[in-house]
Amino acid sequence: MRNPLIEIYDILLDFFGPQDWWPGDTPFEVMIGAILTQNTNWGNVQKAVRNLMHAGALTPHAIYKMENERLSELIRPAGYYNIKAKRLKSFVEFFMEKYSGRTDKIRETDMTSLREYLLGVNGIGPETADSILLYALEKPVFVIDTYTKRILSRHGIMDSSESYDSFQELFHESLPAKVPLFNEYHALLVKTGKEFCRPKPHCHGCPLKR
Ligand code: SF4
Repeated sequence: MRNPLIEIYDILLDFFGPQDWWPGDTPFEVMIGAILTQNTNWGNVQKAVRNLMHAGALTPHAIYKMENERLSELIRPAGYYNIKAKRLKSFVEFFMEKYSGRTDKIRETDMTSLREYLLGVNGIGPETADSILLYALEKPVFVIDTYTKRILSRHGIMDSSESYDSFQELFHESLPAKVPLFNEYHALLVKTGKEFCRPKPHCHGCPLKR
């Protein structure tokens, strides 16, 4: 029998085509987006990012220096803006103080250590840390989200009550550790979750029905 995770990937890629994720012009913008996207949709994140850009504040240095109140105001469209402003500040403080806000420097750190550092930052959980690692820093780590858990559990591959780490381990054991593959696969699962595998599944027409 073929590896079911590879089979799912092939079916989704064939059906939807490449997704070309993650929207963001620079690695720092992707990092910021990974924090802002918590509990909101991507359209709202884009509005907040545009505000930061127009204010000339889409750099680690600018956010590091900015007052929390001003930052909250700029990212208001992303929702939970006071909490997210604190989270952004915590992340940027970490990034500036440890790596001088330089992407080339943070990339040099090995993935395991970097993941631990990120998880130590206030407000950064496994999904956000892994999104930063994969999409901004091109480290081969699989991002697990609600869609991933839902799709795999509905197909009897893993129970949804299993931990984030167990789901991630399954992907890491089943697939070659390649950034483009992890990137594309996660995007395809999100697409499937949004279009078909909603809280109430729309199996009719879904490529995974067969
Ligand atoms: S919508 Fe149905 S067929 Fe599609 S992934 Fe969900 S459970 Fe599977």
